[in-house]
Amino acid sequence: KTVCVTGASGFIASWLVKLLLERGYTVRGTVRNPEKAKHLLQLPSASDHLKLFAADLLKPGCFDEIMQGCDGVFHTASPFFYKNVTDPQAQFIDPAVKGTVNVLASCAKAHTKRVVLTSSVAAVAITPKNTPGVVIDESFWSDPDYCRERKLWYNLSKTLAEKAAWDFVKEKGLDMVVINPSFVIGPVLQASKNTSSETILEFLDGTTKTFANRALGIVGVKDVAMAHILAYESAHANGRYICAGPVLHNADLVALLKKLYPMYPICATDADETVPRVPTYTLSTEKSKELGVHYQPIEDVIHETVSSLKESNFIL
Ligand code: NDP
Repeated sequence: KTVCVTGASGFIASWLVKLLLERGYTVRGTVRNPEKAKHLLQLPSASDHLKLFAADLLKPGCFDEIMQGCDGVFHTASPFFYKNVTDPQAQFIDPAVKGTVNVLASCAKAHTKRVVLTSSVAAVAITPKNTPGVVIDESFWSDPDYCRERKLWYNLSKTLAEKAAWDFVKEKGLDMVVINPSFVIGPVLQASKNTSSETILEFLDGTTKTFANRALGIVGVKDVAMAHILAYESAHANGRYICAGPVLHNADLVALLKKLYPMYPICATDADETVPRVPTYTLSTEKSKELGVHYQPIEDVIHETVSSLKESNFIL
């Protein structure tokens, strides 16, 4: 049972690699920078069952040899950040879209039995048509024009990449299942901060003074990693799976953090107090629950996130 995980050094992928090794898989992990993947080599059974490969998402054919002999491929690598965006096409769209098609092309050549793609709720829920109280399910797609208008480059990249992936697998007859997680937090295995845990950290340490008027689904990283494995292992898995916990407005998230951690200098308030807060919506998790995903209570996920940020010395 050999599988490949792209972007293996990332936050979600590190948990995926850990769980795959625990389940007895042999894992080939592709990374940009092997220095950032050292933590993976310390995982139990990594010495015998994990091999790392340097690979460039944008280099055609780069994944061809790595995918040969892999039964399954988990494609998680994609840019995810909000700061210092200067060239959205080069920083987001190209690696997300061309990178995904490049990986899938290697899977097609290797006759991979199933690909599991890490997409996002960012590819599902970003549309002006959402009304208060709407239940967003897997039939929803984010609107690329709306993402462009609002300069939501990350969301645009995930939407275009997932669309390109479905077009590609349809044409080539590849079996693909997609996981669409909401905002993922939880304990970090890697040595550096990732975008979603950094958001929590910057609320806690008072770096974030104002928050955007938006509501986000929040989900634990271990549940998201397990969803990928269930999507791979379940013969009946198909299509997209929203993977989400409760949807909280940023204001509710800040209030919850203040309640749980009164000792931290949390001070974020509305970016514009004259604008009414956007209503929250519901992300449907029916399909993922049928697949067997269990969701940890959100307070436990936040607790594990903060403990891990402390253990990693990111916060006192
Ligand atoms: P990380 O930033 O920890 O992981 C991203 C991974 O993608 C890293 O391995 C990174 O490599 C790799 N990567 C990023 N840009 C490039 C690039 N230009 N070329 C090659 N590799 C690249 O974040 P997450 O673990 O959170 O994200 C993993 C996946 O999950 C992404 O597809 C993301 O869109 C998706 N996702 C994340 C959510 C979240 O809230 N965290 C929510 C929904 C979906 P390197 O380690 O070298 O930087």
